[in-house]
Amino acid sequence: MSRTGRCLCGAVSYEIAQSGDTFGACHCDQCRHWTGSVMMALTVAKDDLTVTGEALKWFESSDWGQRGFCATCGASLFYRLKAGKLAGEWHVAVGTLDTLDGLKLGGEIFHDRTAGAYAFAGELKRMTAAEAEAFFATLG
Ligand SMILES: [Zn+2]
Ligand SMILES: [Zn+2]
Repeated sequence: MSRTGRCLCGAVSYEIAQSGDTFGACHCDQCRHWTGSVMMALTVAKDDLTVTGEALKWFESSDWGQRGFCATCGASLFYRLKAGKLAGEWHVAVGTLDTLDGLKLGGEIFHDRTAGAYAFAGELKRMTAAEAEAFFATLG
């Protein structure tokens, strides 16, 4: 189904033509520091995403990834890889969607980085930091 979303101030908005109905959570150090909590994101093919707003800026958070945010209100919006097999995907922060209707958390990575401070309930696919790093190393 199609979806819409925006940053807090509305200077950046977007439309998703289609996506899956599950999203993932990442507890890695970069996502924690960027969001202030947990990055929960819906994977969307770049061609299915239309973004509007010149306030969208990109922060080079690593050699492989970039993070898109609103330069006016500071909202964390998008994560994308610069190269490799998954470079055509954008990860849209689910908190910026206008509604979460029909979506469900499907899994979490780097879950051991929470140090047990909190945990998501339910049957989720889970990867530790070591498992996630090994998986990403295979993507090139
Ligand atoms: Zn904004
Ligand atoms: Zn992360």
